[in-house]
Amino acid sequence: MRSHFIPAAFFAALLFAILAAVPSAADVMNHPVAIVIHGGAGTIRRENLSEDVESAYRAKLAESVRAGHSVLANGGTSREAVIAAIRIMEDSPLFNAGKGAVFTNEARVELDASIMDGETLNAGAITGVGRIRNPIELANAVLEQSPHVMLMGAGAEAFAAEQGFGMVDNSYFHTERRLKQLKRVQESEARTALSEDDDFDKALADKKLSTVGAVAIDRFGNITAGTSTGGMTNKRFGRIGDSPIIGAGTYAENGVCGISATGHGEFFIRAAVAHDICARVAYKQIPLQQAADEVIMDKLVKMGADGGIIGLDGDGNVVFSFNSKGMYRASINASGKETIAIFR
Ligand code: ASP
Repeated sequence: MRSHFIPAAFFAALLFAILAAVPSAADVMNHPVAIVIHGGAGTIRRENLSEDVESAYRAKLAESVRAGHSVLANGGTSREAVIAAIRIMEDSPLFNAGKGAVFTNEARVELDASIMDGETLNAGAITGVGRIRNPIELANAVLEQSPHVMLMGAGAEAFAAEQGFGMVDNSYFHTERRLKQLKRVQESEARTALSEDDDFDKALADKKLSTVGAVAIDRFGNITAGTSTGGMTNKRFGRIGDSPIIGAGTYAENGVCGISATGHGEFFIRAAVAHDICARVAYKQIPLQQAADEVIMDKLVKMGADGGIIGLDGDGNVVFSFNSKGMYRASINASGKETIAIFR
């Protein structure tokens, strides 16, 4: 008898311990939610931003981060939240994405976007589109409705038409402000060629403002990251930056991290920024803030590159890291605390 009693009690205790350790379905579905967004990094100085313009940026960042957070708070997925937040910035002329996008050297607008799902590691990206009002939605359609990860130009637009996307004329994206910026950058570059004087710095600063992105974690603990941009002012037509490249401008992996980047795309591609940060977290078992700072404040600085990232770790901790003067950014963390900031 005794020999039967002991194993039974032992197994009962073991079963209890296992059940207590494994999170229940309710626990998994109640993961704390959080969202972080950016509206681009660059030479954003307080003295160059009037009070009105600064409050316009702050209001739009607040609208965007709150829209994404309300999706999460109402039980929506991180993918839906990222799209909701980015769509608002794409529709605003303030940011270099969608409506406010910068011009190519041919005075056209060519848009790039990507989105990655950290649960499945599935991703969608589009590049060089000129007729899609909300590129992040098309990137998501590539993720959901195609066997591919990235579609470009005319092929991406044909896919969009098949998926029932409405088309806008390229002129929908044209704004006076960006046209002036293009002329300024073109004149400045022509005058100074490759010299490093003030004008050239200003021209570069002009080129680096904006790009938008969002990273969210939902009640299931799933992380999504997304990025959308017009690229850099006066970019050669056909140029592709880091924003639509998975691993460079965008990356997400559940339990590790989600990242959306902004900055000088050529360097961000070469440094595989978003993936490098997540890989450091996974392989070195270091906190996301440390991994992000190693890449942004050290590796990129040594390469001579400006920019930054926003990110979330697997627990929903919010991270910002940028080596530029400023970065438009906002978050609502896992405790519900809202942050909106622009300068360093
Ligand atoms: N990373 C973007 C690009 O190179 C630009 C930016 O973030 O401002 O296309």
